Amino acid sequence: MIAILGSTSLIIYEIISHNLFRQFENNALKTATNAGLILDLVKHEHEEYFKPNDFNLTLKDLINRSEANINIANNNVYKNNPYFFGNQDISIQWLNEEKKVLVKEGNLIIQWEEFSPSKINKYYDYQNNLFSLILPIKNHKNDQLIGYIKIIESTGFLKNNLFWLKISLILGGGFALILTTGGAFLLTKQSLQPIIASFQELKQFTADASHELRTPLTVIKTSADLVLNNHEEISQDNLHKIKTIVSATEEMNILVNDLLLLARMDKEITEKEKFFIKLPLDEICEDLFDLLEVQAQSSQITLKCDLTPNLWIKGNASHVQRLLTNILSNALQYTPKKGKVIFTLKKELHWAIITVEDTGIGINSQELKNIFHRFWRGEGGRSHRKEGSGLGLAIAEKIAIHHGGKITVESVLSQGSTFRIYLPIIG
Ligand code: ADP
Repeated sequence: MIAILGSTSLIIYEIISHNLFRQFENNALKTATNAGLILDLVKHEHEEYFKPNDFNLTLKDLINRSEANINIANNNVYKNNPYFFGNQDISIQWLNEEKKVLVKEGNLIIQWEEFSPSKINKYYDYQNNLFSLILPIKNHKNDQLIGYIKIIESTGFLKNNLFWLKISLILGGGFALILTTGGAFLLTKQSLQPIIASFQELKQFTADASHELRTPLTVIKTSADLVLNNHEEISQDNLHKIKTIVSATEEMNILVNDLLLLARMDKEITEKEKFFIKLPLDEICEDLFDLLEVQAQSSQITLKCDLTPNLWIKGNASHVQRLLTNILSNALQYTPKKGKVIFTLKKELHWAIITVEDTGIGINSQELKNIFHRFWRGEGGRSHRKEGSGLGLAIAEKIAIHHGGKITVESVLSQGSTFRIYLPIIG
C-alpha cells in the first residue's frame, strides 16, 4: 500500500509541478511578447533621450522624458500586464541587437550572458530561486533581429505552492494509508474467521482425541500386564506377542501424552501466567544432570556441566523439566560412544541461557530449518536411533515460547550441535 500510494502521490506531484512550471513559462513568454511590441519605440526614444551616465534608466523614466509617452503608455505592456510595474517578483529588460540593456523595469538580476538570437532562451537559477526568459525580437517586415526582451521572475511563489502540494499529498497519502490499512485489517480479520474457527476445532479435536485415547490405552496396558503376571499359563510364542503389545502401548501412551501436552499449550497460551510459580533454574538443571549422568556413563559419553547458581525463573516446573530433558537427552541420544556433551547455565542481561553442546552426528543445514516441526525426524537421526516420534523438539520450543523465551540451534553435520535455550529470569 505504501508503495502504491507513494508512487501515485509522486506521479500526481510530478504532473502538477510540470504543469505549474509550463504555465509559469507561458506567462513569462506572453509578457516578453507584449514587451517586444515596443522595443522599436524604446530603441528610438532611447537614442534621443539617453544621457551617457544614466545606467539605470527605467521604462518609466524614458516615458516621462519622451514626447511619444502616450504611445508607450497605451501600449500592451501596460494593458496586458497591469500587475507588472511595482511588482517585486518580476523584471523586464529591453536589450538592443548587441545585447546591451537599454531600459529596464524591476530590480531582479540574474547572471546569464550566453543566449541564442534564434530561439526562446530559458534559464533557471535554482540557488536564488529565479527564472529568466530571453526572447529575440525581429522586425515584422524584413525579419531582421532588432534586439531582445529579457524577463526575470522569482520562482519563490512556485516553490511555495509546490511545498504545500507536497504537504497535502503526504497528509492525504497518510490518511488514505490509515483508511486502507484499517479496511484491509477488518476485511482480512473477517475472511480469516472461518479458517481460525476450523483451526481451533482441529486443536480441540487433537486435545479431545488424545485425552479420550488415554483410557483405552491404560485398559490395554493393564490387561496385558495382568496376563503377563500369569505367564506360566501362556506359551512362549504368545508371551512374546503380549510383551510386544505392552511396549507398543507404552510407546503410544507417550505419543498421546505428548500430543495432549502440545494441544493444551496451543490452547492455554493466553492464560499461561496463571499456572506459573517461582523456580530455581540452577537446581532443576542440577537434578537433571544427576539423572542423566548415569545414562551418559552407560553410553560412554562424557557429560560435563557448569551451572551458575541462584538463577530464578517464573514457570511451570514439570514443563521446564520436560524442556531441558528433551534437549539434553537428545544430545546424549544423537552422540556416538566416546563423544562429549557440555551442559551450561549462564546469565546474560535478563536471560538465563542454557547451552547444550554435543559432539554428535549433527544436522545438515537444509534440515536445520525443519528441526522444530512436529513429527519431523532427520535422516541422520532416524538411522542413528530407530525410536523417537519427532515431537520432542516441537514440545521443547513450545514450552520455551510459553515461558517467554526461545531456542536457537547451530549444527555442523558429523561434528555436533549446540542448542541454546533462553528463559527470562526474575529477581
Ligand atoms: P526425536 O528425537 O523423537 O526424533 P525430536 O523432536 O527430539 O524427536 O528431534 C527431531 C529430530 O532432530 C531428530 O530425529 C534428529 O534427527 C534431530 N536432532 C535433535 N537433536 C539432535 C542432536 N542433538 N543432534 C543431532 N540431531 C538432533
